[in-house]
Amino acid sequence: MRAALHTGAGAPLTIEKIDLREPGPGEVVVDLEAAAVCVTDVLATEGLTLVPPPFVTGHSGTGTVTVVGPGVTRTRVGDRIVTAGSAECGVCYPCVQGTPSACDDIFGGMVPPRAVATRASGEPVHVDGGVGVFAEQMVLRESGIVTITDALHAEHAALLGCGVLSGLGAVFTVANVRRGSAVAVVGCGHLGLWMVQGARLAGAATIIAVEYDRRRRSLAGELGATHVVDPADGDPIAHVRELTGGRGVDFAFEAGGSTSASEQAFAMARAGGVVVTTSMAQITDLVTLNALDFGVGAKRISSSQSGGGYLKRDIPLFESLLARGDVTAAPIVSATYSLDDINVAFAAARDKEVITGVIRL
Ligand SMILES: [Zn+2]
Ligand SMILES: [Zn+2]
Repeated sequence: MRAALHTGAGAPLTIEKIDLREPGPGEVVVDLEAAAVCVTDVLATEGLTLVPPPFVTGHSGTGTVTVVGPGVTRTRVGDRIVTAGSAECGVCYPCVQGTPSACDDIFGGMVPPRAVATRASGEPVHVDGGVGVFAEQMVLRESGIVTITDALHAEHAALLGCGVLSGLGAVFTVANVRRGSAVAVVGCGHLGLWMVQGARLAGAATIIAVEYDRRRRSLAGELGATHVVDPADGDPIAHVRELTGGRGVDFAFEAGGSTSASEQAFAMARAGGVVVTTSMAQITDLVTLNALDFGVGAKRISSSQSGGGYLKRDIPLFESLLARGDVTAAPIVSATYSLDDINVAFAAARDKEVITGVIRL
């Protein structure tokens, strides 16, 4: 079985033959078909993970179950599944409190790291975040996979566990955008373009796309933004206030991947408004927010880690929205690659040359 291995900081990923182990209790083996490249995966190879190399990254993929381990109850051989960046064990404290997107098993793939295979030398191979889908096959935890139908192309289904889940989940689950409301999306790429589509579907009257890249701005317009703002063209916060009668937006979404984008989204929200951030910045990064806006301004902040909801509830719902054509992945999957070209795909994601690249396995 071939996989893309991260072997140490600064080294390009190497495609290696590794020996996958048998599935243990609650695990399945999946023949992977496609996997989306997310900046989170790139950041993991740059040190944003607790997992020691060598490891396989990739958290959002799709494939078919070929073996089920002991104790697997709801997944069968032949099931078409998708993976996500959250495990949702169902029994840990965050899960039973109704916040499964913060499941303890997110770190359960990191501390201790989850070993899934061995190299020819006998050295163990781990997976980042407990998943690892940049491989032809993978041993996955049943708690982190969701069975889907045959409705979608694999290249589109591969986005369900990442951009679709976090982007649409931000709108429908975390923020609960209401009909007629005003929305701003700061950063219109891999996640932000799903937020724009979700806001349109939720009936937002004003959808302001804030984005540097001209092509992404025009795509945001095609997918539902009513206004586009280029941050290079004057203060974007003032621009958003101008478009909302000086008040600010009801819902401000950050999908720009930087601390400044988070600060901008916070400043764009009206008093009493909701701010949803998705940024995966470096561990040491800090965000500075105006204290008065918390107190008197009563702004509320939440993240959209894995969409803030239940994988087994939300992924089938979002799959049906895609299958019905209510939202579209076609313009968002802007490049596909073979596993051998994964370093090209990572560079394109890092440099924002593509919106979402997909690896065909
Ligand atoms: Zn849990
Ligand atoms: Zn992701």
